[in-house]
Amino acid sequence: RAKTEGRAGFRIFEPSLEVEMRKRRQVEQELAEGISKDHLTLVFQPQVDVESERIIGFETLVRWNHPVRGLILPEAFIPVAERSRLINRLDAWVLRKACTLARDLPEVTISVNMSAASLREPDIAERMIAVLAQVGFDPDRLEVEITESAVFQSEGRAHEALLRLRDAGVRIALDDFGTGHASLVHIRSMPVTKIKIDRSFIMNLGIERDAAAIVEYVVRLGRSLGMVLTAEGVETREQLRFLRAFGTQQAQGYLFSPPVPIEEAQRLLAAQSAGQTGAERHGGPTP
Ligand code: C2E
Ligand code: MG
Ligand code: MG
Ligand code: MG
Repeated sequence: RAKTEGRAGFRIFEPSLEVEMRKRRQVEQELAEGISKDHLTLVFQPQVDVESERIIGFETLVRWNHPVRGLILPEAFIPVAERSRLINRLDAWVLRKACTLARDLPEVTISVNMSAASLREPDIAERMIAVLAQVGFDPDRLEVEITESAVFQSEGRAHEALLRLRDAGVRIALDDFGTGHASLVHIRSMPVTKIKIDRSFIMNLGIERDAAAIVEYVVRLGRSLGMVLTAEGVETREQLRFLRAFGTQQAQGYLFSPPVPIEEAQRLLAAQSAGQTGAERHGGPTP
């Protein structure tokens, strides 16, 4: 019966849904395998002080080296992981790996992205702090990036976790600010100390007058509430000039560096401490 009457519906509807589900399940299975077989790798993107253009930290970003399909970017598998409990394993793996790799980088902060679902895991803060102790990574040097949805879902268990992390010295940054519904006034009551202004606003600095007005407002209000402001996705000198004029303290983006392997991150820091300034790195005027 399904083969005759229901045929059109079967073709248009069920296969796509079924194919979709099967694909997702396959990605989940392969990702689970990828995590246990260490097919995931981490890259590190410099975060700079806007005034001096010196590197003050690195954001950790995950990559998947699929044995058949090659390099896969997070947007293709993080959402799949977030629909299953895999995200907890993935975020835990990233934390341990990032801290192990970056343990010997001098002075800089290491940021890791953490999904809302991971923050709701029972005893997540204690487990994270235990990992830091095992690895020998100072909690003062760790920053956790969460999204607005995580902040808003964080009334219960996740909020507790954030407080406990903060009390242990871990910093909390709000990622992709401006893409959700969070207001700075609301965020003030959360254990968040840094705001990362979303790339979509930074991209339009110098192009759309509204973007400049919004960024300037966010920086002013954020700073007056005692928060550190960071701009993500800075690609041009012009964008940096706006950010500097507005008093944004930190920036991150291709203008400074794309995400790089740990060896390159070490090299960038070594070059910096050998006395090369940001301006020299970018071919600007030398003193
Ligand atoms: P995000 O945390 O907002 O990370 C910034 C993204 O922008 C990264 O993409 C980075 O490579 C990219 N980016 C940095 N500078 C520039 C720039 O100047 N121009 C442009 N066009 N892009 C720039 P990526 O690595 O593909 O990561 C995408 C998202 O995946 C991240 O957004 C984050 O939400 C998520 N993600 C990455 N790693 C992890 C992880 O370990 N755990 C979790 N839960 N999520 C992760
Ligand atoms: Mg991030
Ligand atoms: Mg971001
Ligand atoms: Mg983003």
